[in-house]
Amino acid sequence: MATKQVIIDKARSDGRTILTEIESKELIKQAGISVSDTRLATSPEEAISLSRQLGFPVVLKVASADIVHKSDAGGVKLGLRTSKQVGKAYGDILAAIHREYPQAVIQEVSVQKMARPGVEVIIGMSKDDQFGPVLMFGLGGILVEVLKDVAFRIVPLVRRDAAEMIREIKGYPLLEGYRGQEAVDVSHLEEMLLKVSEFVEKHPEIKELDLNPIFAYSQGAVAVDARVILEEEKQ
Ligand code: ADP
Ligand code: MG
Repeated sequence: MATKQVIIDKARSDGRTILTEIESKELIKQAGISVSDTRLATSPEEAISLSRQLGFPVVLKVASADIVHKSDAGGVKLGLRTSKQVGKAYGDILAAIHREYPQAVIQEVSVQKMARPGVEVIIGMSKDDQFGPVLMFGLGGILVEVLKDVAFRIVPLVRRDAAEMIREIKGYPLLEGYRGQEAVDVSHLEEMLLKVSEFVEKHPEIKELDLNPIFAYSQGAVAVDARVILEEEKQ
């Protein structure tokens, strides 16, 4: 596995500040955060063989640093159960991207296991002009987009900050188990927030970080999408 510096240097030498999902997940994984194991395929055949190795069902996604909202562009295919579905999804993704971004030359697709359903949450880091790195926690999907139900804390976080920010979102009861749903492992989410805090503190070259979504379970949690943006290189 490429080390953190190798991943960052590769992006720099390509003149990119945006890391791909695979690069972002590798970095995040090295911070001790669980991510869905994600591989790169450069042909439908390779995607099929990776799917067999990982085990069905799988997810295929467009793999390009230029495409930030993969699903908006038709670049995410979930719940693929057979080699045939994987082969077709590969072609469908390239065709959809070609329609949306006629200029883009995309050949690569990422393959990962379909994670079992969980409660979707997000952790983000952005930099405030005055406060520097700030962490955000919220519920994923429509709740964060429409209701902006999120909490913020300035880095570095201590355990108490992590515990408080999770509990202060309005949707917290959903994490405690709602209408017969299982409660999620909140202490694991606290741990994730602390690890992200430590990670961004150690790496000032990271400008933005998004784990969106993380699937939270009654035990543990896994980030199924990740995006890291680097600071512009100092001249
Ligand atoms: P986008 O670039 O559009 O944010 P994502 O990688 O987040 O793309 O995928 C879109 C949605 O698909 C996610 O919000 C999540 O609900 C679902 N998804 C993505 N990866 C997985 C996975 N490995 N297992 C299950 N669901 C997934
Ligand atoms: Mg996402």
